Amino acid sequence: MSDDELGDTQRMMLANGWCPDCGAGLLPGPRGGAAQNFYCSERTTCREGFNLTFHSGKLAFAQRIGEVDDERFKLYARDDGQ
Ligand SMILES: [Zn+2]
Repeated sequence: MSDDELGDTQRMMLANGWCPDCGAGLLPGPRGGAAQNFYCSERTTCREGFNLTFHSGKLAFAQRIGEVDDERFKLYARDDGQ
């Protein structure tokens, strides 16, 4: 949605599985090659999504993908326990 740059703190939160906007946990979404989409689990006010690429366990690239709609979120929301 926004063109906000993801700074060091935000990238650190993403690397640890937290949404940098609201602090909620991230839900792993579809993977494509080395990149994977992650959806914020806070669905009332945030709904943000991110595309993350990890190399050797370190976050190499992070990009906002904007608001995630309910249908897309539900496809990956089955494992709520962890
Ligand atoms: Zn969030």
